[in-house]
Amino acid sequence: MNEPAVKINKKGAAWHRTGHPWIYRDDLEKAEPALSGNIVSVLDNKGAFLGKAFYNDRSKISLRFIAKEDVRIDKAFWKKRISAAIEYRNRIIKDTDAYRLSHAEADGLPSLIVDRYGEHISIQTLSLGMDNIKDTIAEILIESLSPKSIVARNDSATRRLEGLPEEKEILYGEPPEKITVFEGAVRYLVDILNGQKTGGYLDQRENRIAAEGYARGKALDCFAYQGLFSLHAAKSSDEVTAIDSSAQALAVLLENAGLNSIKNIKIQEGNVFDLLKSYQKEARQFDLIVLDPPAFAKSKKDLQNAIRGYIDINLRAMKLLSKGGHLFTCSCSYNLSEGQFLEIVKEALKESGRSARLVEKRIQPADHPFLLNFPESNYLKCLVLEML
Ligand code: SAH
Repeated sequence: MNEPAVKINKKGAAWHRTGHPWIYRDDLEKAEPALSGNIVSVLDNKGAFLGKAFYNDRSKISLRFIAKEDVRIDKAFWKKRISAAIEYRNRIIKDTDAYRLSHAEADGLPSLIVDRYGEHISIQTLSLGMDNIKDTIAEILIESLSPKSIVARNDSATRRLEGLPEEKEILYGEPPEKITVFEGAVRYLVDILNGQKTGGYLDQRENRIAAEGYARGKALDCFAYQGLFSLHAAKSSDEVTAIDSSAQALAVLLENAGLNSIKNIKIQEGNVFDLLKSYQKEARQFDLIVLDPPAFAKSKKDLQNAIRGYIDINLRAMKLLSKGGHLFTCSCSYNLSEGQFLEIVKEALKESGRSARLVEKRIQPADHPFLLNFPESNYLKCLVLEML
């Protein structure tokens, strides 16, 4: 136990026993501001060793557990964890060269996101402790995977909570403006420096491939971003309409359609809430509607407004669906449980005056695993309804 120690209180120790990998600031026996950014030994209120963790006094999440054992945490330690994450993906990944290599705590790599887009890598270091070892992480990724480039997409607002700046950085090589990757039968472009999140939304990969099986007639892709649901749906639909508020995203969508020789996608720039309303006035009908909104409930205090937002888009989509049509409705808010999301969809159904049956309950893919005792890592919900 070479590291300095931080003591947690009785409540914190009880919380730790549930298996949750974080300790909140209120559950520390005493703050140790000078240790912020370091790895510390964590002791319970009686002085017993609980494990090693990143410490940050500035963050409400003051301790993030790395290991329960009294192990040496150095480059070799991190390399072993990263190798395990890579080996796991080698076993489970098929039909794509764009996937998540590290899903943070769920891979034993607290607050480290590593996404692979072909031969390029995009990472996020979302806590002070992990940010401090960013260069070591990049070295390990270079040694293990020989990528052509690595960028740090640390322009996420959650970094502010750690006292870290929002920034983008090239850590290695020269990332091209556009990388071509594939997902099932579809090829698409990714800009790892300027795209949203780490470049794209890898968590919806399997759901997008599944959507293809429900597509026919007229499809509507709401919150389309660069059109991945649209591309998968296009092959079995007569026509796909893709809505997004970002003109930039829709421009890439058109490039993606060209790349796949797809000609039946129409883009519509605008606000989904307004457009669904006007489609209803125009009596338009669809056989498949995808709702993949950004997280409406970014924090617990947003929850009430978020719930109304989810009910509204779902309700409006339900009214536009043909009999036998399918609704692919998603939520990536981790502040909203699967049970709550189901209640939202039930409420929307009631308000729409329609009836429907639930045909599938889907989640995030296996390259985004989650710890059962860490609900924050389980965030994506996707329900498939068939309108009756
Ligand atoms: N379905 C996409 C990911 C969607 S991310 C995929 O599978 O890759 C959410 C998208 O919603 C972003 O592209 C954002 O620009 C868009 N967006 C956010 N609010 C919106 C609104 N009110 N109306 C239309 N688009 C919106």
